[in-house]
Amino acid sequence: MEGALNSRDMLVVFDFDCTIAEVDSDLWVAEQLGAKPLMEQLRLRLPWNEMMDTLMGALHAEGKSIAEVGDALRSIPLQSDKIVAIKLAHAIGCELRIVSDANSFFIETILDKYGVTSLFSHIHTNPASIDDLGRLRISPFHSKSEAPHACQHCPPNMCKGRIIEKIQSEMLLSKRVIYVGDGCGDYCPTLRLREGDFVLPRKEYPLWEMLNEKSAHVRAAVHPWATGAEMKVLLMNLINGSARMEEEQPPADISDVNCATIALVHREQSRDVSSVKAVPA
Ligand SMILES: [Mg+2]
Ligand SMILES: [Zn+2]
Repeated sequence: MEGALNSRDMLVVFDFDCTIAEVDSDLWVAEQLGAKPLMEQLRLRLPWNEMMDTLMGALHAEGKSIAEVGDALRSIPLQSDKIVAIKLAHAIGCELRIVSDANSFFIETILDKYGVTSLFSHIHTNPASIDDLGRLRISPFHSKSEAPHACQHCPPNMCKGRIIEKIQSEMLLSKRVIYVGDGCGDYCPTLRLREGDFVLPRKEYPLWEMLNEKSAHVRAAVHPWATGAEMKVLLMNLINGSARMEEEQPPADISDVNCATIALVHREQSRDVSSVKAVPA
């Protein structure tokens, strides 16, 4: 097929909050643990990343355990089609990464629930750890000892564009990138994408609005989605190299995509004779 891509030469980069998870995990945890008013107070004097670290300290001082934080995280809404999309993209041979301004504890706790953490080769996010007292500590991705990133689009703790640039410079093969995101922080990395790459913004969220206004700055092809099912179809079609869709076109039938994808996986496996990966019965 013309323009067909080898899935092994593709990298799918997901944002996390409001992209894989339906909502923002920081806001969700604050809400579930009754800390929304405190969050709003802290927000007035602290940048977001420090605010979350301080909020976790306050919750710990109130007697909220790390197990309760974990329970709140595992209750976050997440559409099962997105998990299917992640599993299919991985099965077909794409490399998967997450680039997120949440933190490693939140993301891994949620992905562990669905058993997909290990499908991502890297999770680029603010590092989190549990201290001796059982308090969650959240640190900035770009540590304060580094020179400031000087990007006007991004908060001081994380410039996602810089992360994408680093990924691009470290790739042995120049993989085509599919970037899936929703927020203002996802605009900077989409500016780093190249011709032949794709950006998949969540419809009616800030990234989609920014791309509508400033699409001239973006070299990647833009394909919006609204639901997990649409994201799955879009990803599978792009990975299949058969993206010929217009926004007006009705969404493809999901069962067709599953069949096409399964066929593709078989084709890939039979072609890759060096593969010794066991296929679960
Ligand atoms: Mg997001
Ligand atoms: Zn930036």
